[in-house]
Amino acid sequence: MELEAKKWGFQGKQELNAPTITVRGALKLLTANINKDNSSPVVPLGLSDPSNFPSFRITPAAEDAVVDAVRSGKHNCYAPTVGILPARRAIADYLNRDIPYKLCPDDVYLTVGSKQGIEIVTSVLSRPGANILLPRPGFPYYEHWCAYNNLEMRHYDLLRENGWEVDLDAVETLANANTVAMVIINPGNPCGNVFSYEHLNKVAETARKLGILIISDEAYDSIAFGSTRYVPMRVFGSTVPVLTLGSLSKRWIVPGWRLGWLVTSDPNGILQNSGVIDSIIGYLNISSDPATFIQAAIPQILENTKEEFFSKIMCLLREGADICYNRIEEMPCLTCPNKPEGSMFVMVKLNLSMLEDINDDIDFCLKLAKEESVIILPGRAVGMKNWLRITFAVESRLLRDGLERVKAFCQRHAKKQ
Ligand SMILES: *Cc1c(COP(=O)(O)O)cnc(C)c1O
Repeated sequence: MELEAKKWGFQGKQELNAPTITVRGALKLLTANINKDNSSPVVPLGLSDPSNFPSFRITPAAEDAVVDAVRSGKHNCYAPTVGILPARRAIADYLNRDIPYKLCPDDVYLTVGSKQGIEIVTSVLSRPGANILLPRPGFPYYEHWCAYNNLEMRHYDLLRENGWEVDLDAVETLANANTVAMVIINPGNPCGNVFSYEHLNKVAETARKLGILIISDEAYDSIAFGSTRYVPMRVFGSTVPVLTLGSLSKRWIVPGWRLGWLVTSDPNGILQNSGVIDSIIGYLNISSDPATFIQAAIPQILENTKEEFFSKIMCLLREGADICYNRIEEMPCLTCPNKPEGSMFVMVKLNLSMLEDINDDIDFCLKLAKEESVIILPGRAVGMKNWLRITFAVESRLLRDGLERVKAFCQRHAKKQ
């Protein structure tokens, strides 16, 4: 047997079985830990996919757009690798709402969700010795793809005492001649923060000084319901080249439709001259595309999803953020440094010294799943040990119920005075 095994000349790729914990992996572990005998419903506060809740359902007009595209029989073909023109044009128009210069269809590349956008940017920018600056806490998909592409990552902190703004001093210290880009996520996952115009301006100036491009993850584009107005990074495209990642997943609440975009904002042609555009096109030529009928439905989806759909979702999320923040304030063992103003998440600090028999964030989440059937993501999965990431994008009744159970759990495990 042993001799025979030695003949096989292959093995799995190391970077893909790295022992880092993934968001999906952590949630799977927690779900497996739920006590099946517990009759109360599971409260999923781990993942931002409210698509199964009736109040978050996409407007029927957008569903009709997809049905029409399928039924027309015109979109059973392969699409051009960059995406079909009507969809690229519709997305360019949609994104042109409030920027000082105009994007054209050629600036827009269709992707299989913004996750594929992350694969593309990390692949295109990786070369021996290069490094990239990532936020901490952040969205771990970046870390996984950087590891896969051997792109060295350096982490800058988001400052909790400054509303989770970028630590720009750290960015300047971390960057060197081999730094190619910095990633920002705005509105923020996992912190629920929204960067102000002034802060984004400083980010742009810093990146310009360092000669690096900005990758702006805008998966939560326009999902801002607090006092800070959402501003897309591409507003500063003439200061510094910007690659924007966006998708239908979060704003339209259809993550399963797998339609995203990678957009270049670069009126000075720096990306073109450095070959980045050619590499993006080259990558798209060898990877796979979003389904053609979804691409074909895009112009109608964008046109027919009316403002009232978005404002309803914004109300639900604002209410969810309020419930979450207020309930957490009532729990001494949890601290929420900033009330969320956008996205679907909030970061909460675990005060371990007030809890008995809880070792860390993972232990907290495992016991919470087991005893209360509530799923919350341990902060470690997003780069912050002994913190928690909670999503408030769930039906408010369920959210209240879930947080009530978190409170009961914390009281039961509180250190006796
Ligand atoms: C959800 C999410 C994505 C990916 O979403 P897609 O469904 O692939 O568009 C990317 N970045 C962040 C920060 C996200 O939260």
